[in-house]
Amino acid sequence: PVVDLRGKKALVTGIANNRSIAWGVAQQLSAAGADVGVAYLPLSDKVTTKVKSLTEELSPSLFVPCDVTKPEDMTALADAIKAEWGGVDVVIHCLAFANREDLAGDFSATSAGGFQTALNISAFSLVEMCGTLKPLLNDGASVVTLSYLGATKVVPNYNVMGVAKAALEASVRYLAAELGPQGVRVNAISAGPIRTLASSAIAGFVGMLRNIENVAPLRRTVTQKEVGTTAAFLASSASSAITGQVLFVDCGYEIMGAPPKVED
Ligand code: NAD
Repeated sequence: PVVDLRGKKALVTGIANNRSIAWGVAQQLSAAGADVGVAYLPLSDKVTTKVKSLTEELSPSLFVPCDVTKPEDMTALADAIKAEWGGVDVVIHCLAFANREDLAGDFSATSAGGFQTALNISAFSLVEMCGTLKPLLNDGASVVTLSYLGATKVVPNYNVMGVAKAALEASVRYLAAELGPQGVRVNAISAGPIRTLASSAIAGFVGMLRNIENVAPLRRTVTQKEVGTTAAFLASSASSAITGQVLFVDCGYEIMGAPPKVED
C-alpha cells in the first residue's frame, strides 16, 4: 500500500457486488490498514447475504443496512458508528441511482419524480450523510464521493444523472467549506467509465468504453483498483491540504477537446 491508514475507521457505502467501485475502494482501504465498516442497501435477504460473504475477507467491524432514502436508516448508521467506533475517520459515499427510463432518450422528457429520485439518492444523500455524521467526524477525517464527467459536460444518455452529479460536485464544495474548520476534508473522484451494475443502466455504455480506449491519453479505461488507490490517497494524510476538489481518475480523457491526431 502507498499510504498508511492504520488505526483509521473507514465507512464504505455502495458495495453491491464484486464489480462495485466501492468494493475496489474497500479493498484498498483495508490493504492500507484501515478498519473498514460496510453500510449496504438491503434490497433483499439474498443481496444482504451476497454483500456479507463478499466483504467477509475484510472482517468489517461494522455491517449496517442503510437505504439513504430513509432518514431513520441514516440515524441508525450514526448510532452504530457511535457505539462501535466512537467516531469515524473516512467516509466513502459511492452510490447513485436514476430510473432506467431517465438514462436514455430526450433529457427534456425526464419526469418530476425521476428528477427528484436521481437528485435525492445521488446528491442529497451526501449532504444528509455529512450532516448526520458531523458530530462523529474525527479531526483529520476525509469524506470521498464518486462523480463523473457528465456533471460538467454533456455525455449522451447520462441525462438526469449529469444534473445529479453537478449537484453532488457543488455539494462537495459547500460541505468542504463548512467542515474545513473542524479539520474535515471533502472531495470527489471523477472516475472514467467502468462496467458495473449502475453503469449497465446507461444506454450505449459499452460504446463509451471503446471510445475511451481510442481517445484517452493513456488509451485505456480506468480500473476499479485505480479508483480504490486514489480513494486511499484522498482518505490519508498524504492529501491533507486537498479539499473541495474533483479529481479526475480517467486516464486523462477529460483533458481532450477533440479526438487525438491520427495518421491520414
Ligand atoms: P454499483 O451499482 O456497483 O454501485 C451503486 C451502489 O449504489 C449500489 O451498491 C447500490 O446498492 C447503491 N444504492 C443505490 N440506491 C441506494 C439507496 N437508496 N441507499 C443506499 N445505497 C444505494 O455501481 P458503481 O458504478 O460502482 O457506482 C458507484 C458510484 O460510482 C456511483 O456514484 C456512480 O455514479 C459512480 N461512478 C460510476 C462510474 C462507472 O462507470 N461505473 C463512473 C463514475 C462514477
